[in-house]
Amino acid sequence: HIRTRFAPSPTGFIHLGNLRSALYPWAFARHNQGDFILRIEDTDLERSSQEAVDVIIEGMAWLGLDLDEGPIYQMQRIDRYRAVVKQMLDSDLAYPCYMSEEELNQIRDQQMLDKEKPRYNGRWRPEPGKTLPPIPTDVLPVIRFKNPIGGSVIWEDAVKGKIEISNDELDDLVIARPDGTPTYNFCVVVDDLDMKITHVIRGDDHVNNTPRQINIMKALGGELPVYAHLPTVLNDSGEKMSKRNGAMSVRDYQKAGYLPEAILNYLARLGWSHGDAEVFTKEQFVQWFDLASLGRSPAQHNPEKLLWLNHQYIQNADSKQLAELTKPFAHVLGIDTENGPDFAQVVDLLKDRANTLIEIAEGAKLFYLPAPAHTSDQIAANIPKEIVPALQDLIKAIEAAQPSKEAYGSIFKQVLTHHQIKMPALAMPVRYALFSTTQTPAIDSVLVVLGKQEVLNRLSKVV
Ligand code: GLU
Repeated sequence: HIRTRFAPSPTGFIHLGNLRSALYPWAFARHNQGDFILRIEDTDLERSSQEAVDVIIEGMAWLGLDLDEGPIYQMQRIDRYRAVVKQMLDSDLAYPCYMSEEELNQIRDQQMLDKEKPRYNGRWRPEPGKTLPPIPTDVLPVIRFKNPIGGSVIWEDAVKGKIEISNDELDDLVIARPDGTPTYNFCVVVDDLDMKITHVIRGDDHVNNTPRQINIMKALGGELPVYAHLPTVLNDSGEKMSKRNGAMSVRDYQKAGYLPEAILNYLARLGWSHGDAEVFTKEQFVQWFDLASLGRSPAQHNPEKLLWLNHQYIQNADSKQLAELTKPFAHVLGIDTENGPDFAQVVDLLKDRANTLIEIAEGAKLFYLPAPAHTSDQIAANIPKEIVPALQDLIKAIEAAQPSKEAYGSIFKQVLTHHQIKMPALAMPVRYALFSTTQTPAIDSVLVVLGKQEVLNRLSKVV
């Protein structure tokens, strides 16, 4: 039975790259009818916050990444980690190390001078026939794992292929600090075992931790999960994506008027592909997802592509639903969507050209502003005298018409032919009369949306 997890550290910011580390294990679990677990790695008390946890949970809910278990907080499992530390001490898999901070630093400095890789020298590691130094009274010990000596750690990474790390490169990892708190790599192992995780799918910034984690897992007699280390996500300038170099958080995308479906589709393709499919549903993604099609090289964030995808989803969305999603953005712009044209109709008119919900809201503004109050000077300057007869005919025809895009379209045609004028000569003054602007979406649709009575009121003021 497949079990995957997303194990974020709640340190305040979740960008697209982080979210992708949630999406892939989620999709893998769903594809295999397995379980997806959220584990909050909050043992770094100084950097973790509940606010950050909320952002993660909200962001996942927004994308529709549903959980089978969790959130499970590591801080609530401290007793369990301590118990495993004790068990490891009792079974000689770990030992107390009383080396003082200064001594450790001295050794490191010497190793640096000798151009050796700094590593713990095993002074306190018990070995048959070895006499350990006398236990000092003024040092609280750390607990170290007895890493195997000789040989190597080998695993077949589902993304990176076979990886082999010599045990000589790994020293005896500290699994508990002097105050007894467990360390990061150790908690991850205990959790992955206790939670029966079968596939660890995570960023490749953790590749270096993996051999250490595998050794501890083996020592505990656990079954190893499959590891899939995802290549980094680079930002659009080719640097590792991070808050410091301007990455946007999930909330930023939400606030900028992106649809969760577009973000999900975009993230899915950021390091995974299925033939040349670019736009697909969440269901298709789950159906197609496999570890074998994960990219092996870093994926680069492409804001234009994301915007393009967002446009695709907006254009194809149901206008009523889209209107509901756009309302909060409209309200921020001061639009009273309950007063004026039907908002869903306005959205329907604007969605073909909009890339974000904010763009729809901005386009909608026009329809909710008060009717223009033109002075006679303004009218004289913007409505050419010679066009007035055509405008009068237009008004008469609109009065008599059943309002529809088609009806208004043919009315315009008739008036143009009758007065021997071109579309802009008539449409520009109409736009000016209706909105004091010459830029609006297609005029026939605009008339329908604004409503016959409102159109007639506004037009009759300029003739
Ligand atoms: N907490 C780690 C992080 O946020 C992930 C650990 C893991 O997936 O094993 O980078």
